[in-house]
Amino acid sequence: MRVRFAPSPTGPLHIGGVRTALYNYLFARKHGGTFILRIEDTDQSRFVPGAEEYIQEALQWLGLLPDEGPTQGGPHAPYRQSERTHLYRQFAEKLLDSGHAYYAFDTEEELEDMRLRLQKSGQKAGAYNSITRYSMKNSLTLSRDEVQARIRNGEPYVIRIKIPRNEEVRVNDLIRGTIVVNSSTLDDKVLFKSDGMPTYHLANVADDYLMQITHVIRGEEWLPSAPLHVLLYKYLGLEEVMPQFAHLPLILKPEGNGKLSKRDGDRLGFPVFPLQWRDPESGEISAGYRESGWLPEAVINFLALLGWHPTEGKELFSLSELIDLFDLSRISKSGAKFDLEKARWINRQYVQALPPEVLGRELCRQAVNHGINADPQYCHRVASLVKERLTLLSDLWKESHFFFSRPGPPDAQWLQGRWNPETAALLDACIDRLSALELFESHQIEDTISQILREKSLKPAVLLPLLRVLLTGTMTGPSVADSMALLGKEETLHRLRTYRLWNIPV
Ligand code: GLU
Repeated sequence: MRVRFAPSPTGPLHIGGVRTALYNYLFARKHGGTFILRIEDTDQSRFVPGAEEYIQEALQWLGLLPDEGPTQGGPHAPYRQSERTHLYRQFAEKLLDSGHAYYAFDTEEELEDMRLRLQKSGQKAGAYNSITRYSMKNSLTLSRDEVQARIRNGEPYVIRIKIPRNEEVRVNDLIRGTIVVNSSTLDDKVLFKSDGMPTYHLANVADDYLMQITHVIRGEEWLPSAPLHVLLYKYLGLEEVMPQFAHLPLILKPEGNGKLSKRDGDRLGFPVFPLQWRDPESGEISAGYRESGWLPEAVINFLALLGWHPTEGKELFSLSELIDLFDLSRISKSGAKFDLEKARWINRQYVQALPPEVLGRELCRQAVNHGINADPQYCHRVASLVKERLTLLSDLWKESHFFFSRPGPPDAQWLQGRWNPETAALLDACIDRLSALELFESHQIEDTISQILREKSLKPAVLLPLLRVLLTGTMTGPSVADSMALLGKEETLHRLRTYRLWNIPV
């Protein structure tokens, strides 16, 4: 079995595209087949620099490495369509010879005129089809000599497929069953453009044939093109080797209405791209899962479950389990709602399962990004302490930055609500008693604080939030005693004493 992921390098890869790559990969691995990366870059006008490198890097980050592709090479190289242009012409010629395609010379203005004419007469906008083609400038309406002369004179032309007027076209889809479309609903799509490049349809079918693709697994947005592709196989005499089709359901907005877009991600605070992307023209940055602290295993896991589920009840699957269980017949026909809470839960499980050394190293790396060169041993201890508070890797720094730098003074209003004439004395008592401790470890610290509270008949809520704010500048975090132990006696006392510098409202 040979499958391909065939993105066009027109920008960053949407996670819908990543899921397509993943399903192709799982299918290939499950059946001992071949996973191919083919770059479909024949549309020069949509080419975006850096997009192909982005795709390759994203697949690498996720561990979905192709067996054949532009960097891997393979028996059907090259794997970039722009380097294969010499291969496509023969397919168009064959269709011209058998009368299933024709030359068309219409200019932009003439095409626009047709659109307007059709609009005025209330017909479906703009279709160049089995009816309208006879009123246009093409090799079906012009004499043979004139066609030859125009071509000889270098007049620009395109090659269009000649769609039959009224014929049933059947697409067998492994997910949706048989879909029957009447050819009258299709138009005479351009197969070859005036710049001498094939369009997506021709290049895609030609390459699937040349690369001996057995299964075309792709997004639902390509379903409307499938009847045209079926006709191309038929007219090229390749029906026997036509691949099987599987069109994957759309990934929907969390609310379920409409396709998930970058705007939804921005609105709800999650990336829709695997890696961060900087638009080369506008410079605009789009967030990526990798940079936002997601683990590739988690992204694979939650994407796999968007539209496919092997068994009820289980949500965590490693890549090798996914390979084992993957089955096209369990892919749903209906769109899959993106479930942010579930995705976050899945990431959390993978983050929690990381070895402490890995978290420690990651924290050191994040500290460096904030200009701090921290001791690896210390990072390890901090990471272990905040670990249970992490969902994303990027939470590491958020949850622990105060172990690396001193907090500023607290919010005056917050303080006002907590301060009373005895507070300063209470804090001083803590400072004295803690500085008398010989062993400055969590339970000694905890005992000391409890003792002070008991002696003064105070509730923990009177003291602990104040201590926490003095130590960390935040209201939540690991236990106060654990935090003090980790900061060490000297640093703890220093931070507690800073209350004396506060401008305390009375
Ligand atoms: N180049 C198309 C895309 O960008 C590929 C569609 C297909 O897999 O046939 O998605």
